[in-house]
Amino acid sequence: MINGVKGTQDLYFPEIKAWHRIEAAARELFALYGYSEIRTPVMEHTELFVRSVGDETDIVSKEMYTFQDKKGRSLTLRPEYTAGVMRSVVENRLHDSARHSRLYYIGPQFRYERPQKGRYRQFHQIGIEALGDASPGCDFECITIGRELMRRLGIAQVEVRINSVGCPRCRPAYTEKLREALAGRSGELCQDCRRRLETNPLRVLDCKVPSCQPVLTEAPKISECLCDECAAHFEEVKNLLSEFEVPFVPWPRLVRGLDYYKKTVFEMISPLLGAQDALLGGGRYDGLLGQLGGPALPSFGWALGLERLALITPAGEEKREPEVYIAWMGGELYKPALRIASKLREKGVPVIIDGEERSVKNSMKRADRLNVKFAVIVGEDEIKAERLTVKNLESGEQFAFGVEEAASFFMSNS
Ligand code: AMP
Repeated sequence: MINGVKGTQDLYFPEIKAWHRIEAAARELFALYGYSEIRTPVMEHTELFVRSVGDETDIVSKEMYTFQDKKGRSLTLRPEYTAGVMRSVVENRLHDSARHSRLYYIGPQFRYERPQKGRYRQFHQIGIEALGDASPGCDFECITIGRELMRRLGIAQVEVRINSVGCPRCRPAYTEKLREALAGRSGELCQDCRRRLETNPLRVLDCKVPSCQPVLTEAPKISECLCDECAAHFEEVKNLLSEFEVPFVPWPRLVRGLDYYKKTVFEMISPLLGAQDALLGGGRYDGLLGQLGGPALPSFGWALGLERLALITPAGEEKREPEVYIAWMGGELYKPALRIASKLREKGVPVIIDGEERSVKNSMKRADRLNVKFAVIVGEDEIKAERLTVKNLESGEQFAFGVEEAASFFMSNS
């Protein structure tokens, strides 16, 4: 037997139903806000992620699935979606058309992380990208869309945490202040943090290692060092959230794992998830499009983890499931039985029929294993009389119906 790759999962019934529900709710909601879907390739040139995500990030430095193709090009399975979307926007000049300024995506991502519950090496994200709007209103609306999606899925326990990571004007001074404050206590930091202190001190705030936490809690806060523009922007995002009753918690240490963020960053977490409690995250990345050779358009986006969301999405309204099994007796009755099956399906009744011939007894056993509610028996007598024998497998009751009548019966009884 060959096993699946470590950190990957197979998805099938019944879990797949939560995924369908989430995807359908997301597509419907995004359309209400004027978003359209974009699908980009799973693999991109490695350079794209190095340049956009940042080479000091965990993602780029440790977690990418990078390989050489047969011509020696370095390719990477995307570890996140935004870089690919922005690459596509520049390459296809989508920024020239207002209709392309609101994009959403659904698809797999790949990160070489230590697998555990809620953390996989292949995982799936749903996300949105809003291009060309620098206003706090854009941040507010994007956050609201994420919150509204949770509400529509019936997930009550979600906390929105927000912060501002400043901009190239105010961040360097803060970074220096942070470096100085942490340098004095570097002996208390983990090895990764000591390295980050030199290369990218902001990243230290992201560290999850327990022994680093006391130092990080006492570190200077970026909110105290924002320039006037960043501070005003952040205030307005918070005002709008309060005004429109989207509860949030200011989270001064939130910096997020990618280098391209500026100003607002946010996360949604759910206590229902356990250790891996981050459900959705994003923020503003005004410089990214310009960095990838496009116009310097402002942008805001977020992504949520489908595996995690599916874990806590309550079962909702179900689509109809197959509840009818057609049992046919005798080789010459297979084709008439097939015709009956298509007539029922045309009326909207999901039907299972097998190609293999079975005895009455074995057909009933099979219907039982399929867990359907009704069996339709197609024997010679039924065909002659143009009446189907319908058996309710739960109650044992039996009826004789014409096809049309049977269809209405199934539609109203399942
Ligand atoms: P990120 O791109 O790291 O900001 O992640 C956005 C969301 O994707 C997170 O809030 C998680 O829900 C989900 N996510 C990130 N990494 C993984 C992973 N390795 N396995 C499952 N879900 C993940």
